[in-house]
Amino acid sequence: MCDIVASIPQDIGAYADKLYRLMSEGERAGEGLIKDRMSFCEGCDRNSTGTCLACGCYCLIRSMKKDNKCPKGKW
Ligand code: SF4
Repeated sequence: MCDIVASIPQDIGAYADKLYRLMSEGERAGEGLIKDRMSFCEGCDRNSTGTCLACGCYCLIRSMKKDNKCPKGKW
């Protein structure tokens, strides 16, 4: 499970936006890459209302960091 989950508040969209802005350019995945990744998550049987059951992370949060990978190798 990723270490960020424990500190995530209820409003995940606002939190994700804030986190994205705090990341350096080098850390951030581009918007197109995030959308591509999320399209895999949206159709994935491990996605439970935005949480990845394979790793425990929020799919959106996981997708935002360029170097992150899907724990099942889908992206
Ligand atoms: S990160 Fe991978 S395993 Fe998890 S929900 Fe997305 S596509 Fe599925």
